[in-house]
Amino acid sequence: MTYGKEDKAFWKDGLQFSCTSCGHCCRHEPGYVFLSPEDLAGLAKIKKMTEQVFSEKYCRTVDLGIVTRLSLLETPEHDCVFWDQGCSIYNARPLQCRTYPCWPAIMASIEDWDREAQECPGINQGKRHSVREISSALKKREREVLISPTR
Ligand code: SF4
Ligand code: SF4
Repeated sequence: MTYGKEDKAFWKDGLQFSCTSCGHCCRHEPGYVFLSPEDLAGLAKIKKMTEQVFSEKYCRTVDLGIVTRLSLLETPEHDCVFWDQGCSIYNARPLQCRTYPCWPAIMASIEDWDREAQECPGINQGKRHSVREISSALKKREREVLISPTR
């Protein structure tokens, strides 16, 4: 996906975002937190487990039709398995979580950004993030190679 030249993007002067820890994006609704090999290694390390044991305990395989992905488990209430009055693995949270809201689909247009702002009270308030930070997050997501378990 391309975003147009940075100097023409709606975020060319940076954007405001500070998480309020409301938990909305971590809880209550079904969703996926897809993992890369680096995410899995970091999470297994912080939990002092092998990657195999971590995967069996905290992950599920999601079949998306043409590909499979490894995602964190959810509770029956659709909370992320690591939600506990906040993110309990914050320092090792996956890239998907670390780069929010600088995701390609959200940064594609001002309309997409504004739509996301309806869901996230941290958007358009708090710390201003530079165009460099936003671009860096987008590039990390673009380059990310996700785990694709065998069916
Ligand atoms: S919805 Fe936004 S403010 Fe709430 S926890 Fe998620 S990122 Fe933070
Ligand atoms: S890993 Fe942490 S930040 Fe990511 S969805 Fe789970 S609780 Fe939220």
